Amino acid sequence: MPEKGWKSITVRETVVKKLKTMYDQDIQRPQNQKFGAWVDETITGLIDYEDFIRKHAMLRFKGAFGNEIHIYDSFKQSNVIVTIDGAAKTLRCEFDPSNPSCIHIGFCYGLKDTARILKHYGVKN
Ligand SMILES: [Zn+2]
Repeated sequence: MPEKGWKSITVRETVVKKLKTMYDQDIQRPQNQKFGAWVDETITGLIDYEDFIRKHAMLRFKGAFGNEIHIYDSFKQSNVIVTIDGAAKTLRCEFDPSNPSCIHIGFCYGLKDTARILKHYGVKN
């Protein structure tokens, strides 16, 4: 039974194993910090980060559909589509088609959400 103000959740054993490895390797945490408290603090940090990005980020990943990566550009106040050219193994931005390294393409290379897709098409940055 958890303490007052806490709730138990169920996650896969493989997730717990990975979290335990991260916990064991976290040299910044207090040495006496319990695993549950560390997970709580780590997830709280992730929630805060996602909230900050949602409110303040200039570019946001919206989704990947086939060979298209959809981004929202808050500066342009518009959606931007970056297309993966699987044959040329490059990316092309609809706003800057002649610029192979515009900010939108650079953003796509840096996203964890697109890493698998870019690998699937053989695109390397
Ligand atoms: Zn662009």
